[in-house]
Amino acid sequence: MAEIAKLFGIHRNTVRRWLKEGLEAIDHRRPVLIHGSALKAYLTKRRAQRRQTCRPGEFYCFRCRAPRATWGAMADVSFRSATVARLSALCACCETPMHRTIRRADLPALAALVDLRTVASERMNERSDPSANRAFEEV
Ligand SMILES: [Zn+2]
Repeated sequence: MAEIAKLFGIHRNTVRRWLKEGLEAIDHRRPVLIHGSALKAYLTKRRAQRRQTCRPGEFYCFRCRAPRATWGAMADVSFRSATVARLSALCACCETPMHRTIRRADLPALAALVDLRTVASERMNERSDPSANRAFEEV
């Protein structure tokens, strides 16, 4: 148990919790010994159970630690290559920026769920819009 805690840089109580949650010890004697293959199998199974897939239109929010809808059902799109698009949006729950990379071929399906704006055209609008300067003139 102490070796596992040291190996992963975690507290011994975490390993004790894993034992309660299904990690198998070799026997019930002290010190508690765990076979490496049992540990590997436990952690692999645990990771698979925790995996959360985003439904269409959802992004994974690292702050919420969950798939989330985008704020205002909006996302910005920038094109990385002929086949790949990068999406940026805010989490509908905590407004943390979220990012997702998808195939450009999947954009039409996503556009049905999320209001997509291309970042390049937005920048052009900002440059041609004189209202940004007006705020300074009025002061
Ligand atoms: Zn969030």
